[in-house]
Amino acid sequence: MQDDSSTASALDPAALGRQLFDASPDCVKLLDRDGRIVAINRCGYLALGADSAQVLHGRVWRDLLPGAVHADLDAALASARAGGVGRFTGSMPDPQGGAGWWEVTVSPIDGGLLATSRNVTGRVVAELERERLMAQLRTANERMEDVFRQAPAFMCVFSGPELVFELVNDRYLQLVGGRDPVGLTLREALPELAGQGFVELLEGVYHSGEPVFGNDVPVMLQRRTDGPLERRFVDQVYMPLRDPDGAVSGILVHGIDVTERKLAGEQLRASEERYRTLFESVDQGFCILEMIFDDANRPIDYRFLEMNRMFEQHTGLVGGAGKTAREMVPTLDSFWFETYGKVALTGEPVRFESEAPAMERWFDVYATRIGGAGSARVALLFSDITKRKESEATLRKLASDLAEADRRKTEFLATLAHELRNPLAPIRSGLGVMRLKGDSPASVARVREMMERQVGNMVHLIDDLLDIARISGGKLELKRERADLRAVLASAVETSLPLVENGRHQLAVDLPETEVAVEADVTRIAQVVSNLLNNAAKYTPAGGRIGLGLRVEEGQAVIAVSDNGIGIPQDQLTSVFEMFSQVGQHTERSQGGLGIGLSLVRRLVNMHGGEVSAASSGANAGSVFTVRLPLAGSAQAVGGTQARNLDDGGGEGAHVLVVDDNVDAAVTLSMILDACGYTTQVAHDGAHALELAARFRPQVAFLDIGMPGMDGYETARAMRRVAGLEQVILVALTGWGADSDRQKSSEAGFDHHLTKPVQLDVVQDLLARVTF
Ligand code: ADP
Repeated sequence: MQDDSSTASALDPAALGRQLFDASPDCVKLLDRDGRIVAINRCGYLALGADSAQVLHGRVWRDLLPGAVHADLDAALASARAGGVGRFTGSMPDPQGGAGWWEVTVSPIDGGLLATSRNVTGRVVAELERERLMAQLRTANERMEDVFRQAPAFMCVFSGPELVFELVNDRYLQLVGGRDPVGLTLREALPELAGQGFVELLEGVYHSGEPVFGNDVPVMLQRRTDGPLERRFVDQVYMPLRDPDGAVSGILVHGIDVTERKLAGEQLRASEERYRTLFESVDQGFCILEMIFDDANRPIDYRFLEMNRMFEQHTGLVGGAGKTAREMVPTLDSFWFETYGKVALTGEPVRFESEAPAMERWFDVYATRIGGAGSARVALLFSDITKRKESEATLRKLASDLAEADRRKTEFLATLAHELRNPLAPIRSGLGVMRLKGDSPASVARVREMMERQVGNMVHLIDDLLDIARISGGKLELKRERADLRAVLASAVETSLPLVENGRHQLAVDLPETEVAVEADVTRIAQVVSNLLNNAAKYTPAGGRIGLGLRVEEGQAVIAVSDNGIGIPQDQLTSVFEMFSQVGQHTERSQGGLGIGLSLVRRLVNMHGGEVSAASSGANAGSVFTVRLPLAGSAQAVGGTQARNLDDGGGEGAHVLVVDDNVDAAVTLSMILDACGYTTQVAHDGAHALELAARFRPQVAFLDIGMPGMDGYETARAMRRVAGLEQVILVALTGWGADSDRQKSSEAGFDHHLTKPVQLDVVQDLLARVTF
């Protein structure tokens, strides 16, 4: 061993020391006090990128190290120089630029410093990596916690088989009404769940390790202290949580409180249901349609989207859903598209009534857009009002018909007054003449003739009126018998002849050679024909031509009454048959008229199963009235009641009793009969009549039916019971001549039935038959 303080190279450690020095896995350097390398082992020079210790000999160690560690190095060197041990760990890349971490220790030795650098790269990198991972984990945890807390779903974590709440988020707290359950078991925290099956379900998940899902699960929760249990609906998942070894150690529950959505859905469904029920139960039609517009935004069609049950009934359209209006009703007019199109475009609802000729219906419609601006959907609530419209039209027609009938009636009353006054005037003046010139038989005869004619006119008028009233009241009964129409026509001609002659008309009668048999009431048919002949005479200027023809055509008897008179306008050919109807205002009314003659004609003809019509070529072109009557079926014996004949009638001066409470009527009749050579007595009531009859012993008694006290029927029955009067001929005098009236009088014992006012010739005829 030489002097230690000579030179470094003079230091020559023992061979063993040298070997240990070189074999050290650390970098070992001996430095002089200035930090110069005196000796460096193999590991040391290699770490510094040198290939031998010699190269580094004398170099300042600090200069060989990266600047980043200089501060730490200086501090360590200073510590060592001061007699302590300096330490630091620094990053010093390896010569190839790879990462290198070194733990450096500098300690003082005699005359210098000993620096040991240990490569700790593996350890430091591992630590750094751990720290990085830990930081990442922390961040992830924080994130997860944020997610957990702020999740829109409720979440909670249970641990252990006891199901202890470990974590809950805000949503979960909201769900359970703010009760913090952390640290409590599920049974403790939410006791109200007992019996609802949740605890058992979670225990099942814990034990089976199988997750459970549930939607719209109802749960009863006590969300307010002392409040009632509230029903909530949740969509939820129970997920088992496992330890790293795979064993279940907890459960994650997460889900969504869907109560509001569910209730809103239920409300919506309920409201939809309510509206559907409403629309299904109304008796109006309802539908929703979608407008179809062309490129120019013009409405051209619409599609039915849905409709109620009544839709079909109101429209007659079947299976309309999904179809367009044009598909269903190709000829539907554009009004409907335009109207609904406007509703869709403006959003303004409309209410209207309109006819859809293509559907042959009327509708009352309320249309409104559904949805906001831009929606093409229109809802319709509507009714088929066709029937109402029809009845309105009928009512309007009825009202106008009624007004027309009323007008005619008023006119008729005026005419009636006029027509009744017309004959009265000459009658009254006739009476005056008789009073003044009663001693002049020639004057009286003339006046009487005139008066008879006028009274005849009045009687005719009133007869017509009564007949109409009887027909209207269903009281006119036909006395049908088989008759030869030629004879009936002849009798009608006889009746009308005076009027025809008065007008100096020519009457041409054209009857067939053979019988034309009908089943008819001959009096009424004669009345019909005579009415037509009278009209022909009335409405033909003097000296005209009148024709009466009879022929058989298609199994019918056809009677034609024609004239060359004033004619009838085309548009009145039908209305002339209506009551009180007259064509225009006839200035010349020589014969007068009430506008009921033709009405009577038509009704009588109809009652016979026949028809009457008028034809005319216009003004002054004359008229033809044609009556068609069914021919009689097989020939049958003409039945007839023979008038009862008194073979020994009492001859001239036969006794006739006249009984009538109308004194004038009774006295006039008795005067006429007196004048005819009969012996008459008059009574004005039943009792007096019986008393008189017992004494007077009449062969014939005329009894008024409508008398106060004992009426005609009673008087008749009583009279028949009077001894000696069993055979008296009883004649009823009454205003009513229906078959039922005749029946009644015959039952009371009357032999004859005359309707008032009795015509003298009828009375004379009757008396002649029964008394001679
Ligand atoms: P009136 O009492 O007015 O004659 P009718 O019912 O007999 O009533 O006739 C109704 C109307 O028909 C008459 O007012 C007249 O205008 C018209 N008429 C009837 N017969 C004829 C005819 N032969 N020629 C022209 N018009 C006639």
